[in-house]
Parts: sequence; C-alpha cells; structure tokens
Amino acid sequence: MISTSESLQQLIEEFAQLPGIGRKTAQRLALFILKQPRENVTRMAGALVNVKDKIRYCSTCWNITEKDPCTICSSPKRDGSMICVVEEPNDVMAVEKTNEFKGLYHVLGGSLSPLDGIGPEELKVRELLRRITPEVLEVILAINPDVEGEATTLYLTKLLKPLGPKVTRIARGIPVGGDLEFADEATLTRALEGRITL
Ligand code: ZN
Repeated sequence: MISTSESLQQLIEEFAQLPGIGRKTAQRLALFILKQPRENVTRMAGALVNVKDKIRYCSTCWNITEKDPCTICSSPKRDGSMICVVEEPNDVMAVEKTNEFKGLYHVLGGSLSPLDGIGPEELKVRELLRRITPEVLEVILAINPDVEGEATTLYLTKLLKPLGPKVTRIARGIPVGGDLEFADEATLTRALEGRITL
C-alpha cells in the first residue's frame, strides 16, 4: 500500500524498520495510531523520547537504568557474592522474571563474533574482570547457547577461573540456538538450578 498521505507513509516507513515488523504489520500499526485519540499518541511519543533521554547504562553492571548505579546494583538485598553474566539487558529481565536469582548481573553487550568485528574490546569484558574481588564467589555465565555464545563462554571461563571465583554456566534447559530472552520462565528456572561448574 502506498499511502496517499505523506505523513502516514512516513509513519509506516518508521514502523517497518522495527525488528520483527513487516510491511503489512507496519501499515496496521500506522492505521491504529491514526485512529487513536491525540492524547494517547502524545503519551506514546513521549515514552519513545523518554527512553532516549532518560535511560543510560549502569556504570557497574552495564544494564540499562535511569539512575546510576541501577536498582539491582544498589539494592542491599542482592547477594554480591554472585555475578550472573548475560549478553543483553533483555536477558537480565528474563532471569529476573524467574525470581530464582538474588545476585548481581553483568551485561556484556553482546557475544564474541570475530566475523562481525566484535572482539573482547567491543564487549564489557574488562569491566567484568575488574568486578572480580575476593567477595565474588561465583560467576554464572548465562550466555545464549549459540556458536558465538559458546565462544564467549569459553573465552570468559579462561579469564575468570585464575581470578578465583567458581565459574558456572546455566544448564542446557535453553534450546540450542535459542535466545535467552524468549525462554519461558520454567525453562529458565530449570536452567539456573542445573548450572554446572566449568
Ligand atoms: Zn547495575
């Protein structure tokens, strides 16, 4: 559909750029917006701008946050002897939903992928190593079990083990080639319970 309205067409183009949104869905979303009361659209637009203006990265764990350090890093209820290493902020949300983990997190910002030019320098690896003090007893590698994730797990294990903490990885409750973000809570809970020492 080529819209007769330039602004509607523009909105469709914007939606079509979002991950997982095809042309048809982009058109449906744009028409939905068109039918909404103005105040709803203003609120939505404000929420879009707010995520850019207010959200930054926690300088300790590199999760997204509105205040630094984030609520998890600054909570006295969290167990500082455990650090769960994940690829992306979405993975923190996924693990948090299980209510199984009371330690701290470290968000790498991706996984090692030399073909895409992503080496250790592009990830928060040095920042992770700096956090390994004698108080840290266990580092759980909760990294996606795909090729890049496996390489990242191996790489981090080599660096972390000499520093002293127990290094574990979550068990294979997560399907191979799967994405942590899309795992259901039961699967992720089992995976956390069944983690093994590396
Ligand atoms: Zn934090």
